Amino acid sequence: MNAAASVDSAQIDALLPQTQCTRCGYAGCKPYADAVAAGEADINQCPPGGGATIQALAALLGRRVIALNPANGVEAPARVAWIDESRCIGCAKCLAPCPVDAIVGASKFMHTVLVDRCTGCELCIPPCPVDCIELRAAPIGAHNDAPLNRERFEAHNARIRQRSEVRQREIAAVKAALAQSAATSS
Ligand code: SF4
Ligand code: SF4
Ligand code: SF4
Repeated sequence: MNAAASVDSAQIDALLPQTQCTRCGYAGCKPYADAVAAGEADINQCPPGGGATIQALAALLGRRVIALNPANGVEAPARVAWIDESRCIGCAKCLAPCPVDAIVGASKFMHTVLVDRCTGCELCIPPCPVDCIELRAAPIGAHNDAPLNRERFEAHNARIRQRSEVRQREIAAVKAALAQSAATSS
């Protein structure tokens, strides 16, 4: 695979569905775009984008259209996650993995999926300890709105970053208090 010397990876990223599902073999759409731009990944590794994305990438990069690589998955009708609320134990393990914050709920309370946000990326399914999340057909007309998905993903990352920074500050404050207390008592 040749590097797409004249094409910026942002141009490639702009053609991807932004579900961040990782099925391309990369940590998200932007890392995959970077790999395509660098010539390290082919243009046929994105199942959510399917044939339309392959065609768009081929046109952008001046490549020939090829079939979706079955190793990455198959093109399928849009689906959304559904939580069997009667079985949900409220553990909240599905919240953080959702790239677009499409699951609502609090610890020890049942959780539910915001269907109009869900991209069907499946990332919430493996962490659920009671297997109460499944994929169902998306409502008629549902589609992945890539710019909206990207916006929600960036907001999700910003929130996770902020929470981690707050936690780090709390830990530092506890350590400082312990050190001071040890110094005073010695
Ligand atoms: S939507 Fe496509 S490019 Fe983005 S992470 Fe999923 S497979 Fe990769
Ligand atoms: S609810 Fe599940 S399937 Fe839907 S976007 Fe979030 S992680 Fe993906
Ligand atoms: S991971 Fe499963 S059990 Fe835990 S809150 Fe989410 S849906 Fe409920």
